[in-house]
Amino acid sequence: MSEFTKEHYKLEGEKLTVFTYPAPVLKQVAKPVVEFNEELNKLVKDMFFTMYHAPGIGLAAPQVGKSIRLFVMDIDFDREKTLNSDGHTEWSFSNFNPMVIINPVFKQKDGEILYEEGCLSVPGVYEDVKRANHVVLEYQDLNGDKQSLEAEGTLAVCLQHENDHLDGIVFLERLSLLKRQFLTKKFLKAKKG
Ligand SMILES: [Zn+2]
Repeated sequence: MSEFTKEHYKLEGEKLTVFTYPAPVLKQVAKPVVEFNEELNKLVKDMFFTMYHAPGIGLAAPQVGKSIRLFVMDIDFDREKTLNSDGHTEWSFSNFNPMVIINPVFKQKDGEILYEEGCLSVPGVYEDVKRANHVVLEYQDLNGDKQSLEAEGTLAVCLQHENDHLDGIVFLERLSLLKRQFLTKKFLKAKKG
């Protein structure tokens, strides 16, 4: 298994297709990751590449058509548009804090936070969602080793949003019925035309 380095994940990779709501893969309950191999490593690399360039702060495997319990996140990288020598704009990234979360299980969830969420699978829709403000998460890293993470605020919100994708839930489904119906209709209409 190649080593997990920040540089490696931002510069290399393939842009994957991000499935948008209501793609069936987004509604499936994803299967646990059992093999920690090169194939998984490549998927993670491509997911980071896709996420950073989208740009987004989190991307779950089901969003790129893989129904497995894995997501990547980076909630505080910087992105800047620069003009290169031949006149093309490109993006430069800095201050990476990439996280790979595999087979996550929440051990604790408490408090409450209202936070405006968006999702690469529901582009253009942003809405306040109520989540736990404090979480403790157990998961496996890219080597299959067990890890534990305690998080609050934005990080806690993102972990819950991404974990929902593994259970076939998009954030629209966390809203009140009225809001969900309104936003879903609006989104599907915009998507069509
Ligand atoms: Zn999402």
